[in-house]
Amino acid sequence: MSLRERVETAVKQKSKIVPFNEQVKGLCQCADCPTHEQCEKNEIVFCSAGDSDNSSAMAQKGCQCPTCELFSRYNLSEGYFCMHGEAK
Ligand code: SF4
Ligand code: SF4
Repeated sequence: MSLRERVETAVKQKSKIVPFNEQVKGLCQCADCPTHEQCEKNEIVFCSAGDSDNSSAMAQKGCQCPTCELFSRYNLSEGYFCMHGEAK
């Protein structure tokens, strides 16, 4: 079972811009990101679901968001949603 498939269905959408659904989970690039190893297990789609539970202890090691289809689709900017929270 992939990381994306193991994301708990209990995760809720916080962003008013980016939906949280199966298609979005499938497109998310976070699992391949060097910063992601600091996130709590199973967390992805931070642009929709909000920051990681470990965000206060994390350091920037690169962000894959600009390569993500959702980044351009929803005209997102900055990235590092795992640290700074959902797209607003
Ligand atoms: S923009 Fe970033 S956080 Fe949002 S789905 Fe894509 S890779 Fe994941
Ligand atoms: S939001 Fe950006 S920095 Fe954070 S895990 Fe996803 S791709 Fe990496």
